Amino acid sequence: MPSTSAAPRRITALAGGIGGARFVRGLIAAAPGAEVTVIGNTGDDIWIHGLRVCPDLDTVMYTLGGGISEERGWGREDETFTVKDELAAYGVEPAWFGLGDRDIGTHLVRTQMLNAGYPLSAVTQALCARWQPGVRLLPMTDERAETHVVVNVRDGDGRRAIHFQEWWVRYQARLEAHAIVLVGADDAKPGPGVVEAIEGADVVVLPPSNPVVSIGTILQVPGIRESLLRTPAPVVGVSPIVGGRPVRGMADACLTAIGVQTTAAAVAAHYGSRSSGSGILDGWLVDTSDRDAVAAVEALGIACESRPLLMSDLLSTTAMATAALALAEHNAVP
Ligand code: GDP
Ligand code: CA
Repeated sequence: MPSTSAAPRRITALAGGIGGARFVRGLIAAAPGAEVTVIGNTGDDIWIHGLRVCPDLDTVMYTLGGGISEERGWGREDETFTVKDELAAYGVEPAWFGLGDRDIGTHLVRTQMLNAGYPLSAVTQALCARWQPGVRLLPMTDERAETHVVVNVRDGDGRRAIHFQEWWVRYQARLEAHAIVLVGADDAKPGPGVVEAIEGADVVVLPPSNPVVSIGTILQVPGIRESLLRTPAPVVGVSPIVGGRPVRGMADACLTAIGVQTTAAAVAAHYGSRSSGSGILDGWLVDTSDRDAVAAVEALGIACESRPLLMSDLLSTTAMATAALALAEHNAVP
């Protein structure tokens, strides 16, 4: 019997792009020797100029594999945008999506493999053979399920749904979102190994990824939320909201769209407590500046601690991951 104080051997994290990827870097450093599985969000995926693009999977793969542009947080380092400029010169839309030349290599390989009949999970594994991210990267689903945002049509009062990428990249989330919908969710199944990775883990971690369009999307794949409710592993999360604001990006616009306040405590309440039977969290880390929220989160039945939660460098990120693992250990069912 492993003792409760043994270092976790199998860690499973649910991740979006930059917040998830950077946190997992700390997780790997905090738990040397552990087998880390990352369940990646594919709700941001999009067809662009005939190419299948999976922004969050690629951010995780490039970040952990050493190919990410640290400055932008997405796409490749030493990137050029010649193809994008050429397409724009032809007047071909969409011109707002940032496709880098190096990055296009990845999308070409992915698209060819998908067209040859390989599922996204197999394609991702093949791409990772080059990048060696040091984790098992599993798409949340092999089916096509893409996030759309319901906005007002510019002239008139009708509403229409646009792809998440158009809302996020083109409009910088400035168009009011009336609803955020994962189109195709009903027909999606968890990807191969996803449920097993959650139910067979020693610890499940929710990095500080976007609670709506990253973690929230993964939870919408039928069967994934259920496996989080079922797993014997403790489930702990890290707040992406610090001092009432997202650290990066426009998660506040996403939370507003689903009627959740942009605070660390409100996000915890939105995820809910596993002890209540319907939520997904046993533990939650908030930033030291949000220490006043700890009591409110604990009152929900979620163990809560405050820690510095800014991933400024690997050291601070590793400390965050260490704190998350310790919180999980203290809240594991003996
Ligand atoms: P995306 O898919 O690239 O948008 O990335 P994620 O969904 O994985 O992560 C985005 C979230 O990461 C945002 O809501 C940010 O608030 C959060 N985030 C980014 N950097 C930090 C950080 O240093 N600390 C914390 N606590 N959250 C962060
Ligand atoms: Ca994303």
